[in-house]
Amino acid sequence: MAPEPTAAAKADDKIRCDACPVMCYIKPGAVGACDRYANHDGELVRVDPHVLLERTLTQGGDVVAFNEPAEEWDGDIMPRADRFVTAIGAGTTYPDYKPAPFIVSAAVEGVDMVTVVTEGIFSYCGVKVKIDTDRYIGPETKPVRVEGEMIGHVTSGEYGSQMLSLGGVHHLTGGSKKEGRVTCQALLDLCNGRPVELAIDEGASVVVQAGKPPVVNGQTEHRMRVGCGSATIGIFAKQWHGKVDEVVVVDDHITGVLSEHQAGKLLDIPPTGIKMKGRRSTPGRYFQVAEPGTGWGGTNISDPLEILGPFDAKVAYPGLRLLMVSTTGENAAYYELDEALRPIEKEMPANLIEPVERISENCEPALSTVVFIGGAGGSLRAGVTENPVRLTRSVKESLTRVTCGGAPVYVWPGGGITFMVDVTRLPENSFGYVPTPALVAPIEFTLRLSDYEALGGHMDHVRPLAALTGDSRRHVPHIAGNPWPFGPSSPPWLGG
Ligand code: SF4
Repeated sequence: MAPEPTAAAKADDKIRCDACPVMCYIKPGAVGACDRYANHDGELVRVDPHVLLERTLTQGGDVVAFNEPAEEWDGDIMPRADRFVTAIGAGTTYPDYKPAPFIVSAAVEGVDMVTVVTEGIFSYCGVKVKIDTDRYIGPETKPVRVEGEMIGHVTSGEYGSQMLSLGGVHHLTGGSKKEGRVTCQALLDLCNGRPVELAIDEGASVVVQAGKPPVVNGQTEHRMRVGCGSATIGIFAKQWHGKVDEVVVVDDHITGVLSEHQAGKLLDIPPTGIKMKGRRSTPGRYFQVAEPGTGWGGTNISDPLEILGPFDAKVAYPGLRLLMVSTTGENAAYYELDEALRPIEKEMPANLIEPVERISENCEPALSTVVFIGGAGGSLRAGVTENPVRLTRSVKESLTRVTCGGAPVYVWPGGGITFMVDVTRLPENSFGYVPTPALVAPIEFTLRLSDYEALGGHMDHVRPLAALTGDSRRHVPHIAGNPWPFGPSSPPWLGG
C-alpha cells in the first residue's frame, strides 16, 4: 500500500489520486492514467512493489551473491546496513510541501543515517544516447524523430561514438500534445531498456537499446573503432613495418598515412609518392578525405581508391605495396602499383592478415548507452526539507549522497541538483511516467540523521527501516559493480 497519497477524496465509488497534478478519479478495480496507482477495494494503492536492495556479507565483510548467504538467516536478522530502501515503487507526493513517501532511518556502523526516497516527477529531463559506431547517422543539430515527432537532436560526436540529445522540457511540454506524448514514451522505453527506432532527418534510421549493439540502417554494429586513423597508424605502425610499403587508415575525421606520419618517420619508412585528397592537417593526418556516410571509416566511400590522387612518378615505383584499412579493420584491401603506377587490388598477403585482424581484435564491442539526466528542482526538494536550498548545499558539500534506484549518479556542478545516471545500473523497469507528460524516476537522498535535522528535514516522518512491513515490497539483489549506497567507497563524482 502506498503511504502517500492517502487523502484520496471519494467521488461516488471512485477515488481521487493526488500523487501528481493529473488528479485522476479512479474507478474500483481500475488504474490511473499512469498505470502506477489503482483503486483496490476503495483504497488507493501503488501498483508496483516497492523495491529494497539487499546485499549479504560474509563474516570477513566480503559481498557474496544474494542467494548464497554465508550463514542461515530468516530474512529479517540481516544487519540493516545491508538493506537499502530505494525509491522504485515508493510513490510520489504532490503538492510539493508534503514530505517524501518514505523517510527511513537506519544505523550504519554505529552512525544514525536517514534515506529520503521519492519517485520524482521530472518535466525537466531527457536522455543522452551514445552510439558506438563509425557510421554517419546524420548532421549535428538535425532532428531525431519517433512516429514523425521531433523528440531531440543529433549532438556533437565523441571519440568513436555518435551522440544524441533526446527529450527535455521543450519536447515534453513546448510542442504539440502528440510531440509531448511520443517524447515521453520514447524516453520511458529507453530508460527501461526497451529498443526504440529513431529516424534522423537527412540521416540514418537507428535502433537504440541500452546496453545492446546499435542497429544503423538495419545493420547491427559490432565493433567500436580502436582510434582515429592517425591513432591507428600510431598503434600498429610497427606491426606493418617491413610487410607493406604504405598504409592508409581511412577515417571520416582524421585519415592516417603511414609514410608521412611521425610513426612512419621514426621507423625510417621512406616516402611513397602517395597523394591524398582532403585537407592536410599535420604530416600523415588528413581531414575531409570524403563525405561522411556509412562506408569505410564513417565516410561515404565503398572504394577506398577514391580518396587517392595519382602517385608522384618521381617517388613511386611499380610493385609498391599499399594497404588500405578502416578504423575498425572491418574493411581492408591490398594493392600493388602497376607499371603505370596505378594501384591494382591483389589478394591480401598472408603476413598482413594478422596485423589487420589485430585492429579488429583491439576494438571494443559496440553498444548503445542511455544516460538519464534530470533536475531535482524545487518540488522534489521540498519533500525532503522545508528549506530546499539547504538540501542542494548539502549535496554540493557531499554531506548528502544522491542515488537513483540505488545506482550511483553524477551530480553536475553549479546550481540545482542536476544528475545523470546510466540506466543499465538500475533494477529493471525502474522508470515510469505521468501523462502531464513527464517521466517518473526514483531518487534517494542519504545523509546522517543529525545533518538531516540540521537542514530542516521532516523529522516527524522519519521511521525506522524495521517499520517497513507488508507484502508490497520486493527485495532485489544489489547490482554488482554499483557502490553500496551506504558504503564509503563511492567517490564524490559518483554522488558520494
Ligand atoms: S496520473 Fe498516476 S499519479 Fe497522477 S493522479 Fe493519475 S494515477 Fe495518480
